[in-house]
Amino acid sequence: MRKVITPRNVANFINGQYVETGDTFDVLYPVTGEVTAKVHTAGQAEVDAAVAAARAALCGPWGQLSTDERIGMVIDIANGITKRFDDFLELEVLDTGKPYSVASHVDIPRGAANFKAFAHTLKEHATEAFRMDTPDGNGALNYGVRRPRGVIGIISPWNLPLLLMTWKAGPALAMGNTVVVKPSEVTPSTASLLGEVMNEVGVPAGVYNVVNGFGKTGAMITSHPDVDGITFTGETVTGSIIIKATADTLKATSMEMGGKNAGIVFEDADLDIAVKELGRSCFLNTGQVCLGTERVYVHESIFDEVRDRLKDYAENELKYGYPDDDTMNFGPVVSDEHRDKVLSYYKLAEEEGATVVTGGGAPKFGDERDGGSWVEPTIWTGLGHESRVATEEIFGPAVALIPFSDEDEVIRLANDTRYGLSATFFTRDMSRALRVAPQLEAGIVWVNSWFLRDLRTSFGGMKQSGIGREGGVHGLEFYTEISNVCIKI
Ligand code: NAD
Repeated sequence: MRKVITPRNVANFINGQYVETGDTFDVLYPVTGEVTAKVHTAGQAEVDAAVAAARAALCGPWGQLSTDERIGMVIDIANGITKRFDDFLELEVLDTGKPYSVASHVDIPRGAANFKAFAHTLKEHATEAFRMDTPDGNGALNYGVRRPRGVIGIISPWNLPLLLMTWKAGPALAMGNTVVVKPSEVTPSTASLLGEVMNEVGVPAGVYNVVNGFGKTGAMITSHPDVDGITFTGETVTGSIIIKATADTLKATSMEMGGKNAGIVFEDADLDIAVKELGRSCFLNTGQVCLGTERVYVHESIFDEVRDRLKDYAENELKYGYPDDDTMNFGPVVSDEHRDKVLSYYKLAEEEGATVVTGGGAPKFGDERDGGSWVEPTIWTGLGHESRVATEEIFGPAVALIPFSDEDEVIRLANDTRYGLSATFFTRDMSRALRVAPQLEAGIVWVNSWFLRDLRTSFGGMKQSGIGREGGVHGLEFYTEISNVCIKI
């Protein structure tokens, strides 16, 4: 159903209070292009205030909580998100245009789970201890002590706004840090709403701060002398700019960036599973998932069958509509700017000699949705492995199918990229699964599945897809500092 939209104000959240600056920009509803929010831009004064509040909270009430008290509060935040589930859902849908069916299964539950998953991490994982020999024969004892890193700047993207921001805020707070968040300018609403939850559950002022704006506001955080670490998710080119910006103040960084993830369908794959999982990995969230698949290598003996079945999936399983339509599972992309980028690759694919199996353009509705940011799910064949479309990240619902003939060849093709975030392959042969998986240069490899996530496992990219790992115990590396204590006996 068409929504009646009354534009909201999205304020900054600094030291436990909402702060408006009067300098606003618009957020558009991607389904129709209507203005859904006016966002108050943070300038240097607001960023300084947020960082100062975060520093004060670190040395004050938050830093003085016992670990158990802090764990309790982090679990309260998770429960607070669940209690306000519908409010988060509504704002996420307004900012992104994604179907309720996607946001209610993926984005919002994971927002809560991201706090729960890390609540006990610091307490449950032992630090190292070594007894060493000394010349006097008495020896010495070494043991590690972890403390929070300090004030963490979180710079997050628009594709899974609450999920990806809390994937950083969850472990940061659980491990005792305080945060200054700069959500994407395209999708700022749920980060701001989370401030209400922080106040509702009694998180001390200054622990969680949100400043809104474009890259310029983000840059004020990355170069700020009183921020101790930057955790970033976004494009590789932005990541490179951020690493340079953090160099002067020598901040720790944790970087999750772009990808051009490969799928592989071996000749012995269960094609029912392969087509269903590839359908999800290519088209879920309208292709705007960092772990999604944009190039699929299919064994030449089953190429035509996979092509036809994936075409059938795209044409019959994906349904456009309004986000609250229960049968709908395919929304617009996040903005006109991103639609234009995706459509430019659709045009380029044809210039590079692709055969369009399905899609290749933008749908026409004949109603107000024609003002939105829609593109068609698209499948190509006939593109070379080295074409721009098969090597550059599109971040849309589009996939190039490329034939291969043997295992060594396809491993080489899958790895022949500057990226290394995820890879997904399908085979019934367990020896092959065990042989191929470790040869793929990707931080996350799925076999006969996709986006099956255990939050205790490592998450992150190789090569230009990332630096560092998030998830479970791996978060300790970035969100805490370890000191070694050596006691002479
Ligand atoms: P983006 O890089 O354009 O923006 C990300 C964030 O960085 C935004 O908040 C933006 O305002 C901010 N920013 C921009 N310039 C900045 C600067 N100079 N200093 C500080 N902050 C700055 O990314 P996007 O378009 O929002 O997101 C899509 C990208 O994110 C894709 O490349 C996708 O692959 C990637 N992504 C990666 C992962 C992962 O885990 N590896 C997950 C999701 C998305």
